[in-house]
Amino acid sequence: MSVDVEEVRRQTRGVLGVIHLNNAGSSLVPSAVMDAVVGHLRREEEIGGYEAAEEAADRLEGVYSSVARLIGAGPNEIALAENGSRAWAMAVYSFPFVPRTRVLIGRTEYAGNVVALRHLAHRNDLQIVVLDDDPHGLVDVEHLQRELERGNVALVALTHVPMANGLVNPAEEVGRRCRAAGVMFVLDACQSVGQMPLDVQSLGCDVLAGTGRKFLRGPRGTAFLYVRASVLERLEPVLLDGHSAVPAGVGGFEVRGDARRFESWETSAAGRLGLGRAADYALELGLDAVQERVAGLAEQLRSELAAVPSVTVHDRGITRCGIVTFSVKGIDAGTIRTRLAQRRINVSVAPAPFTPSGPVLTGVQRGPEVVVRASVHYYNTETEIQRLVGFIRQT
Ligand SMILES: *Cc1c(COP(=O)(O)O)cnc(C)c1O
Repeated sequence: MSVDVEEVRRQTRGVLGVIHLNNAGSSLVPSAVMDAVVGHLRREEEIGGYEAAEEAADRLEGVYSSVARLIGAGPNEIALAENGSRAWAMAVYSFPFVPRTRVLIGRTEYAGNVVALRHLAHRNDLQIVVLDDDPHGLVDVEHLQRELERGNVALVALTHVPMANGLVNPAEEVGRRCRAAGVMFVLDACQSVGQMPLDVQSLGCDVLAGTGRKFLRGPRGTAFLYVRASVLERLEPVLLDGHSAVPAGVGGFEVRGDARRFESWETSAAGRLGLGRAADYALELGLDAVQERVAGLAEQLRSELAAVPSVTVHDRGITRCGIVTFSVKGIDAGTIRTRLAQRRINVSVAPAPFTPSGPVLTGVQRGPEVVVRASVHYYNTETEIQRLVGFIRQT
């Protein structure tokens, strides 16, 4: 089954007004998602917030099952959060770090995660080891293996799809190695969820964080966290409230047994319903079909851009995704973005994949620091891509 492009465009109001190629930033939401959000806000207006939540209780509970199905998890292994960074941090900050142990990360680890890990490293006297890239820019699994064999590893953190690079890291292989070594594996799937199938069993991750607004096409301010049931008990949440725990005994408390121990009580019910609807929408289309369409459009964009003499495409990797990064000789990325925006073509700028400007990276610096990032989704069309490339050719 393939994606019915005309149908998904009919279900996406935004495509009438813009050529949206900033799906790695925030996708256009399907009308069903926005209707779920606005519909619930209306009910809050009409009957009261608690009453509206009660009315939607089954649907709110269903959000956990929808998200769980999306990644092959159990509903009790899912927590909902307001953003991907916080979801990731709630699990990682809760890890029982032993001083002078090591944390292994890839070179393309998300910058926000790196800051958090440095914070944790200062607090817990940890060493952060940055794994080498292989010749394709992927995390070098053999280097990972050597470091795992050296031992003293607290956890391995990997970003599945970096925010500015076409590549998809070999998460399954990393998962296999971590499992064999008995080391916790934390996967940042914020850019992969919604553009490809994900299954936590085959990925072998113990923790996975995803955000709502990017390729999943959910509302902003929504995210989720997966924590494998078998490691839940090891992770005592760094923050507790009356939702994640209850007072117990004299002066004591009892933490919830499921992944909702990482949540806080007050939240946007409307946002959650939108997230659940977005997960259902992706599942209805089928993530295999989504991935095929996204990868195909991205390859079209890469090859058409590569045929323009002034353009350099920077993407690395073997299996590639919907994120395409490029630069145009003599024109900086910000200027290109502004000029495209004037024509209602949305792209973003991002740190160059080859530029070790990320907080962890060291090495030779070459070329522009910032590149144009055009990220396609299944609702984009071949014609939209030609419009973008046509404009770039004229500049
Ligand atoms: C966007 C992003 C995040 C953070 O998600 P937020 O919802 O913005 O907190 C984490 N990792 C990667 C790779 C991202 O692209």
